[in-house]
Amino acid sequence: MSASPLNTRKKIGLLGGTFDPPHIGHLKLASHFAKVLNLDAILLIPSGEPWQKDAAITPAEIRLQLTEAAGIDLARALLYLKIPTQVGIDRIEVDRAGPSYAIDTAVALRERFGPDASLVWLMGADSLLNLPTWHAWEDLIHYLNFAVASRPNCDLDAEINPATKQLLEKHQTKEPNALENCASGLIYIDDSLAVDLSSTDLRNRLKTSTRNTIASEQIPSHTLEIITNLGLYQ
Ligand code: ATP
Repeated sequence: MSASPLNTRKKIGLLGGTFDPPHIGHLKLASHFAKVLNLDAILLIPSGEPWQKDAAITPAEIRLQLTEAAGIDLARALLYLKIPTQVGIDRIEVDRAGPSYAIDTAVALRERFGPDASLVWLMGADSLLNLPTWHAWEDLIHYLNFAVASRPNCDLDAEINPATKQLLEKHQTKEPNALENCASGLIYIDDSLAVDLSSTDLRNRLKTSTRNTIASEQIPSHTLEIITNLGLYQ
């Protein structure tokens, strides 16, 4: 009997976001896919210049700091859950001048990790619906896989647009393990996540007198500490 060869392909999850601020929805998205996709590492990638967000955005260096703090909480949660995935915070978009296009990040990370690594861009269902508005969006699938999580108030089936539908027809897999064996080109949709949190709602709450009632169930404790110490989002 011959043993099946070990899969030595590196599996890297990429969670890009504005992270203004990072919240527990981001951490649950990351830890869920860390487990389901057997990821070796997850990189949290704060956007430097989130060109699609029109509200006044917190400066990138502060969002980076908040994301680094969230990374500590994420690493702890993974340890507690016995999920052996490393956590990294990547400044690639903060350091790159101009609008933060995911395609530039995908090209740079493919170069960094090599042609064989499975690079999986993690996102919520709202981002998948919005994907056709991303710069050079049709090229992304040549560099990445996608893992998409359900999100309350976002009904993929009801809200799907023709461009996203066409992308799914070509690239969707129902098999999460398939992403472990493919460097790019696959999309896996997981409908088991339902975390009703968003940065917009939390920013709005942080502006009100209920600010002090926000707890580590909503914002990671290390992130919350910085928000409190710096008096952010008042
Ligand atoms: P905002 O309210 O400012 O639009 P956000 O809460 O969507 O922010 P982002 O930093 O823009 O946070 O999100 C980064 C990624 O994380 C996106 O792909 C988004 O879909 C995903 N995400 C954020 N919150 C959740 C959540 N509660 N459940 C699943 N995915 C989420």
